[in-house]
This record gives sequence, C-alpha cells and structure tokens, in this order.
Amino acid sequence: MSKNKSSESVKVVVRCRPLSRKEESNGPAGGIVQMDLRLGQVILKNPRAPPSEPQKTFTFDAVYDSSSKQRDLYDESVRPLIDSVLAGFNGTIFAYGQTGTGKTYTMQGLWLDPEKQGVIPNAFDHIFTHISRSQSDKQYLVRASYLEIYLEEIRDLLDPNHGNTRGLELRESPETGVYVQDLTSCVCKSIKEIEEVMNVGNQARAVGATDMNEHSSRSHALFLITVECSQPGPDGRKHIRVGRLNLVDLAGSERQAKTGVQGDRLKEAAKINLSLSALGNVISALADGRSSHVPYRDSKLTRLLQDSLGGNAKTVMVATLGPAPQHYDETLTTLRYANRAKNIQNQPRVNEDPKDALLREFQKEIARLRAQLNHRRFRSKQKKEQVDGEAWEREGDEEEEEVEEEEVEKEAEEFVKLEEQRLEKENEAIREDQFLLAEEKQKLLGENEKMMGDLRKRQEATEQLTARYKAMESKLLVGGKNIIDHTNEQQKMLEMKRQEIAEQTRREREMQQQMLIQDEEAVELRETFTSLQQEVEAKTKKLKKLYAKLQCTKAEIKDVNDEHVRSRQELEQTQNELTRELKFKYLIIENFIPPEEKNKIMNRLMFDPEEDEWKFKPLVPDESKSSQMKKRPASAVGYKRPISQYARVALSMGTHSRYRAENVMLLELDMTPPNTSALTDGEQNQSPTLNNFPTNDKGICKSRSWCQSQKSITSSSSNNSLFAALKTFN
Ligand code: ADP
Ligand code: MG
Repeated sequence: MSKNKSSESVKVVVRCRPLSRKEESNGPAGGIVQMDLRLGQVILKNPRAPPSEPQKTFTFDAVYDSSSKQRDLYDESVRPLIDSVLAGFNGTIFAYGQTGTGKTYTMQGLWLDPEKQGVIPNAFDHIFTHISRSQSDKQYLVRASYLEIYLEEIRDLLDPNHGNTRGLELRESPETGVYVQDLTSCVCKSIKEIEEVMNVGNQARAVGATDMNEHSSRSHALFLITVECSQPGPDGRKHIRVGRLNLVDLAGSERQAKTGVQGDRLKEAAKINLSLSALGNVISALADGRSSHVPYRDSKLTRLLQDSLGGNAKTVMVATLGPAPQHYDETLTTLRYANRAKNIQNQPRVNEDPKDALLREFQKEIARLRAQLNHRRFRSKQKKEQVDGEAWEREGDEEEEEVEEEEVEKEAEEFVKLEEQRLEKENEAIREDQFLLAEEKQKLLGENEKMMGDLRKRQEATEQLTARYKAMESKLLVGGKNIIDHTNEQQKMLEMKRQEIAEQTRREREMQQQMLIQDEEAVELRETFTSLQQEVEAKTKKLKKLYAKLQCTKAEIKDVNDEHVRSRQELEQTQNELTRELKFKYLIIENFIPPEEKNKIMNRLMFDPEEDEWKFKPLVPDESKSSQMKKRPASAVGYKRPISQYARVALSMGTHSRYRAENVMLLELDMTPPNTSALTDGEQNQSPTLNNFPTNDKGICKSRSWCQSQKSITSSSSNNSLFAALKTFN
C-alpha cells in the first residue's frame, strides 16, 4: 500500500456514541449503525429504504461501538502516535463529526472521572509518565499552546486579551513549516500545570461565546504540545529531537443552512464551514492522488494542518457518529469523508536538531547563568581566603567540580556574613574611640556604611541570579526523576500488558481484513468441480454475490451523484444571494458616490492574499515615514517667509494710510508716561513738556513717541497735520 519506504497512510477510526435518552424516547427504531469490531467494519442501515436494499459497509483501521471505553480507544489507536511524538515525530489527532456525536467527549471527556477521561488528558499522563521513566541523561522541555479558529480568525486562548485583539496571523518558514505568529506558549513541568493551561483555554473559550454550544460547534479548537528532548548521541554531543502534537476538536460537520440569510449573516454562514469544506477538498485532492494542486491555502485550518495531511506527520482521524435514524444523511457523509481520508499518504520523519529548538536556547542560557554565578561565588571565596590569609589554589579536578561548587557557594555566603560582622565591629570600635574627632568618626562610619551597602547589593544581585538560574533549570525536565507520584512496578507491568493486548488486537484485525480480501480472490482458484452441476451452482452463487456488489456500487454512485447535485444547488443558491448582495452594493456606489471619489478609492485598494482581504495602500510610502512632515513652501524671493499677495501690495505701496490698518499694525511706541491729570484738574496740572500740546477739553490726550523730541513735535509737519486733525475732532 505504501508508495515508498517512509510513507504511511492516515489512520482512520470510527466511534459511535450510545443513543441519548431523548433519542431513545423519540422512536421505536434502534440505532442505524452496526459495528463489527473484529473486522473493523461499520454497517449503516438506511431507515427510509426498503428492507431489500443492501446495507452500506465501510472498513476502517478500527471501530468503537457505543460500549467502547475511552481507555480502549487510547491504548489501541492513540498510544502509538504519542510514542512517536515522544520519539521526535509530528503527530495529529483530529475528531471529525456532526455536532453532538462525541468529538469533545472523545478528545477531552469528563476530566473528573479517570475512566471517562478523553484523549487529551490521557496524552498528558502518557507524556509525563514517559519522561519520569526515561533515562537520566535525557532532558525534556514541554510546551503547550491553545488556539481556536472561529469565522476564519485565529484566537489565542491563552492570551488574556484575546477578545480585544485582532486574530493572529499565519506565517511559513522552511524550518518549521506553517506556524501561528505571536502565539502564547507555556512551558509545563507537570501534568497539573498542563491541565491548568487547558482549563484556562477552555474558560477563555466559554467566556468568548455568548452561546457556548453554538460557538463550540462552529469553531475549531487546537491544542498544541511540543516535546523537545535532548540526549547525548554516540558522537558525545547532545542531540535534540522535537515532536509536535496537534490535538484538534473540529467544528460540527453538519451542513450550515445558508439559504434565507442576508448581509453579514450570510458572509458569516459562508465562513463557518469554509475551513471544513476546504479540509474536505484537501482530503479529496490527496486521496485522489491525481490532482497536482492541493488547496491548502484555501483556509486557515488546512494551512495549519498542512503537515498533518500529506506531509511530515503521523495522523489519526477519529470520525464520530450518532446512531439516531434522523441523522442518517449526516452519518453517511461522515463515513464517506472518513473513508476518503484513509487513502492519504504521509511522510513522517524524526525532527532532529532543528534550528529553532527552544531547548538548545534554554541550555545555553542556563550554562551562561551558571558560569556567571560561579564567577561571582568564586570571587567571594577568593576574597574570603585573602581575608583569612590563606593562599588560593584552584584545583582543576573535574570530578571535584560539583562538590566544589557547593563548597564555593557555602564559603561565599560565609564570607558575606563574616564581612558584615567585621564591619559591624569596626563601627562599634569607631563609635567608642574617644581619641577620634567627631568629624573623622562620621567619615569613617560613612565609609563603612557604604561598604556595607555595596556588600548587600552584591549579595542581592547574586540572589537574583541564583533565582533566575533555578527557575530556568526547573523548566527542563530530567528523565529518571519522579514528576508524578510514583507508579509502582506492578502498575508499570499492567500498562505494558495492556499495550501488548491492544497491539495484538490491532494486528489480529489487520489480518482478518486481509484474509477476507484474499479469501474472495483465492476461493475460485482452489475450487475443483466434480460435476457440471456443482460448477453451475458455485458460479451462480458467485454471480449473485457479484451482482449484489454491483448493485451496491450503483447505489453508491447514485448517492454520490445526488449529493453532488445537492451541494451544487446549494452553492448556486449561495452564489445567487451573493450576486444579489453585490448588485445592491453596486447600486449604492454608482448612484451615491461621486465618480472621482470612487476612482480615488479604487486606485488605492490592493488585495492582500495572505490575509484574504482588500487593503488601502499607504498614502506615504513606508520608507519615507520619518520624513512624513510636509516641507514648508520656499519663501517668495527676497522675503523671510511666505507672504500674502495683499501684504506684498501693502509693502510696495509704502506706509500708505490705505494699508496702515491692515495686515501689520503700524503703531509707534508710546514713550510718554501716562497722563491722567488732565482729566481731573484741567490745564494747570499738565506736565510742562506738554504745555503747548493741544488737548481737547474732554480730556482726550493723544499719546506720542517718547523718542520724538519736543522740537520735532512742534516743527514736524506730521504734527501739524495731527494738530489739524485733532482740531477737526474737537
Ligand atoms: P460534540 O463535541 O461532537 O458536539 P459532545 O462530545 O459534546 O459532542 O457529546 C454530546 C453528548 O454525548 C455529551 O453529553 C457526551 O457526554 C455524550 N457522549 C458522546 N460520546 C459518548 C460516548 N462514547 N459515551 C457516552 N456518552 C457520550
Ligand atoms: Mg464539541
């Protein structure tokens, strides 16, 4: 089946949930789904068809009926995948099915009941138990992220502000493939911590939704776990393997009714299942094997799962079914979908020493902090020994390094303590010394105080460094240490036995399936007929069998055609609605927006394929952002600053009285001291300098410049005219 050595197909398992109480009370008919666990077959009964119509049979890697346990599904179908992730492969598990068929139940289950915990909590358990049991030369770093895709927007469920910010963007790098930019990722050191992360995300999901059920059935939730493991290789260097696990709870696969809705609601409805229909197209294109183009870029979900479908990953798909007769169509669609996914071939490989491994950075940072810390302690120890009068000899022995490190730390602390005591004593001595002058005392005490301060600062810095070092180091999990409460040997054995059984069942099923196929082919070859009659009988039997098969296939073709027609009709309907909407918008634009405005807008718009949106081009090109300020226009030649036409005329006309009141006020400085006496005492109290200056009787006194001399007042012609003017005023 495999095309080349490293390729393997997507594993598809099907699970059917029990009839709910409501469904049981609804009708007499039992479930429409029958399962053959031994053969991994699902047999679907059409409740509307006559009993003579053959039932539909689908074969999968494994099937789980309504009585199946969470643990069975995990041990048989998921455990091997998680083991691969721990060995450095990428892995994906996604649950697909109609709303209410048990996707969330399968992925998460009931947290409080260990029997009913789903795939995700079991995977947590598995990962951390594995780490605790691995050899002590292995170092692990486990990180978790949680996101959801709703209406084609990616939301970070671990970011407390995710509700206010815009959706996250997808980026692609040749190293890691497609990833979400700025996605929060939490380092987890234990099962409890990673469960906490999951809880925080689940709460964010619930808070963000007005109607939880509605929202969760329309959004895709992705929980991502990255396990980095470093281990010394045969070359003595540490090698890092990175396994990425995607746990995906998809939106309900049922058709969203798109008819009858308009405007924003229509766009919303069109977007809801965009990811799912894109996923379907991707699966079809991959399963077909002939189409050269796989439409990964059509939706965010398919881009994120690009590696999981036809790429570098091992993938398990859990298709969930409901047994109720009223959902026959949806159940059949799910089974067909799952059946197609079986044919997808992936090329998983171990991710060895990727450049972006966080573990390597952590190791480097820890080594740096450790060196820094050792250096500090070493200096303190050196000082202490100088104080003690000992000669410092560095012992270069490698073996003693660990012991020495602790010793150095202890001695450094001792040194600080001793130094403090010494300074304290000195202070006492200075205070008690009667021969010292008060001033000197103060100075010495001050110096000591400063030294003490320095010492404390150094001590604080060292403590901070130690705390950082310890925090950093604690993030790395070391194999062989007990992270979870210890599981005893018996439990370990039990688990191993359980795994063996699961493995055996799986192999048995595969063999059964193969035998069935071979039987059909080989029976004819082996048969020898003793009489013609016998031969006729056998051939008739075979003919009947083949005829039944033919009928089945014909019915299948008709079904698929019908479905195709139905979905085409639906698409046409959506298209009509959208065209109508478009016409409406055109009408508004053509009739109410001036053409030049429209052209301006059209010229500035451009399409951004990354975000699938039209955007305005920036008004100013990006590179000249710093010089965004418009330059001042050059001034008119000969003038200091831009100047109005009016002011220019005024200037050229000189101080013509016509322009005097305009633009710039031509006021002479008034240098005379204010004179108000004329208003009270009349002529006698006037200042002698103004004696012969005419004032009017009503006490109005025209001010004039102080710099103008007495003489100039009497002699100047302007004064004469002023005089005349005042006269006329009187
Ligand atoms: P989905 O996530 O697909 O919309 P849920 O996981 O919420 O569906 O399941 C709907 C209901 O069915 C829940 O109450 C769940 O407890 C129940 N259920 C689903 N699968 C099973 C199962 N295998 N066994 C028992 N109860 C189940
Ligand atoms: Mg759900």
